[in-house]
Amino acid sequence: MEYRKLGSSGLKISELSFGSWVTFNHQVDTSLAERMLSICFDAGINFFDNAEAYEAGESEIVMGKALKKLKHPRDSYCVSSKVMFGRIPGMRALPTQRGLSKKHVTEACHQAMERMQVDYLDLYFCHRPDPETPISETVWAMHNLVTQGKVLYWGTSEWSAEQLKEAYDFAKENYLTQPTMEQPQYNMLDRARFEIEYKDLYTDYGLGTTIWSPLASGILTAKYLEEIPAGSRATLKGYEWLKKRVLETERGKERLAAVKALLPIAQELGTTMTKLALAWCLVNPNVSTMILGASKIEQLEENLTCLEVLPLLTKDVQDKIQSILGGFETEAGDPAEDGID
Ligand code: NDP
Repeated sequence: MEYRKLGSSGLKISELSFGSWVTFNHQVDTSLAERMLSICFDAGINFFDNAEAYEAGESEIVMGKALKKLKHPRDSYCVSSKVMFGRIPGMRALPTQRGLSKKHVTEACHQAMERMQVDYLDLYFCHRPDPETPISETVWAMHNLVTQGKVLYWGTSEWSAEQLKEAYDFAKENYLTQPTMEQPQYNMLDRARFEIEYKDLYTDYGLGTTIWSPLASGILTAKYLEEIPAGSRATLKGYEWLKKRVLETERGKERLAAVKALLPIAQELGTTMTKLALAWCLVNPNVSTMILGASKIEQLEENLTCLEVLPLLTKDVQDKIQSILGGFETEAGDPAEDGID
């Protein structure tokens, strides 16, 4: 496992990390979570991702219990939470229980620490932009949490480059803590924001990234090519949008056709489509860490071995991949029906 700097910060984070969206408290109970986290620790992973909205806060409870049982020293790993959607799903949340106001950003931090049984959050993200709160208010809220020692690094998830620049510039002008990292979707099929929109932010602001859905929710494993396998994410209640995306839209069909076209490259390299897709993300130096997701131990074990494929991705191989994926370079990613659960 290599450790990459989280943007221009001094934090060295494992290139592979592990997240709990959809899985923890849904497909993965506390004892399985403990086994998975243990495998991650053994592999050298030092960052575990979570959010207030995942399973209405229960995902953080499961992660907290598993971490406690594993007894790794707190200074040996990082945990995150994200704020915006609220812990209470949909419109049942009261107006103060969601969004990026100073009140909710602060309360949600305290609540996440309690659920995860930690004294501070290493990384704390604004899960989406909040059009109803001035960016200056959110920057202040994050800065206060940092100065109180409750948050070490703050960041955003799926903010536009323009919104990020506003946050950076406001923080700089007012001597407040600037954001350190963004959590965007990035994979072979969702590239535009990461590669094009954010391009200048890596050099001009030293933006770090913790990328999500590197397998496009499983589409890039190739398991959806013939059918929707029983028990897979596309069959879960609440994830009908994924089934629609995979099978029922023109765009979904184009995405599956690209996966089919990529398969022979994986076979020529003697690897799986899953490992090829994961290793491909890591070639991009602007990825600080790639957050893996898995509902089963076997998946996690396979995904961790993607690092073996990295040296096989020569310029020739990358050109071949690019000839298939070129069209996805500029196509806007799916607006995330993600994160909220
Ligand atoms: P992926 O795109 O890698 O999808 C993971 C899912 O794909 C697994 O749960 C499993 O689903 C399937 N899968 C994974 N590996 C294999 C394998 N080897 N063989 C077959 N199927 C496999 O990542 P996620 O979408 O889970 O995202 C990763 C993390 O990113 C999340 O846990 C979360 O921390 C973060 N995230 C952040 C978001 C944000 O808005 N900031 C949004 C989404 C995620 P199954 O078995 O059920 O089919």
